[in-house]
Amino acid sequence: MLTTKKKRTACKVLEIRNLTESTAVVRFERQGFEFEPGQYARVGVEGDPEIRDYSIYSGSNQDYVEVLVRRVEDGLVSKQLCDLAVGDEVSVGGPYGHFKLIEEVRDKPLLLIATGTGISPYRSFTESYPDLNYQLIHGTALLEENYEAEFYGENYFHCVSREEGGDYKGRVTEYLKTLEIAPDTNAFLCGNCDMIYEAFDMLQDQGVPTARIHTEVYF
Ligand SMILES: Cc1cc2nc3c(=O)[nH]c(=O)nc-3n(C[C@H](O)[C@H](O)[C@H](O)COP(=O)(O)OP(=O)(O)OC[C@H]3O[C@@H](n4cnc5c(N)ncnc54)[C@H](O)[C@@H]3O)c2cc1C
Repeated sequence: MLTTKKKRTACKVLEIRNLTESTAVVRFERQGFEFEPGQYARVGVEGDPEIRDYSIYSGSNQDYVEVLVRRVEDGLVSKQLCDLAVGDEVSVGGPYGHFKLIEEVRDKPLLLIATGTGISPYRSFTESYPDLNYQLIHGTALLEENYEAEFYGENYFHCVSREEGGDYKGRVTEYLKTLEIAPDTNAFLCGNCDMIYEAFDMLQDQGVPTARIHTEVYF
């Protein structure tokens, strides 16, 4: 099948927010980049051929673009992105992906489930559509990995697997087992594939039809 090669744009880094020692929000110039909340961009350091996919963290109504990047120590690109400084340039392509909030579900109750940096598209959803009715369940190993949770207020629920102090001690999938989920729930799952496969099966077992379960696998 023939596909159109999308153009890449060099964008200046405007801000780096280090949220933990290993995770940063990289903000760069938008330069007319059009996307729908939930989509991802292909980002690399300008001049380097290596690029990776990153969900867009910022809202579609903002005049910059942000991505939330976790540093993978034996990886190639994420480390470089976390080490960028203001004024450096990233190379950006896209947008890509279908992990979006179609208009018909924007006024329905939403169950947003993430592990780690999989929270990123939900920041874009909730920043872009401020009136959403949602509950966000976020699973991380550590308490500090709640990635600007104050933004979501009461809608945020933190499952922390390796230490005390979150809303639930354990994995997201363990917490989901304690919930009764209505079959008309619109569920979004984003993050690592183990969580997504397990949560997908659990939602199906509770009667949520496949068409209402949306997934974005990172690795
Ligand atoms: C659609 C999509 C959206 C994504 N969005 C994000 C995002 O918003 N933020 C983000 O940080 N990453 C995101 N990723 C993952 C990202 O594309 C890279 O895979 C990641 O940054 C590692 O790249 P690297 O070059 O440093 O490591 P690589 O050299 O590509 O790989 C090193 C190893 O790290 C593993 N790995 C990848 N991601 C992680 C992780 N988060 N934790 C632990 N191990 C990992 C890979 O499976 C691989 O085995 C997304 C992936 C996809 C497919």
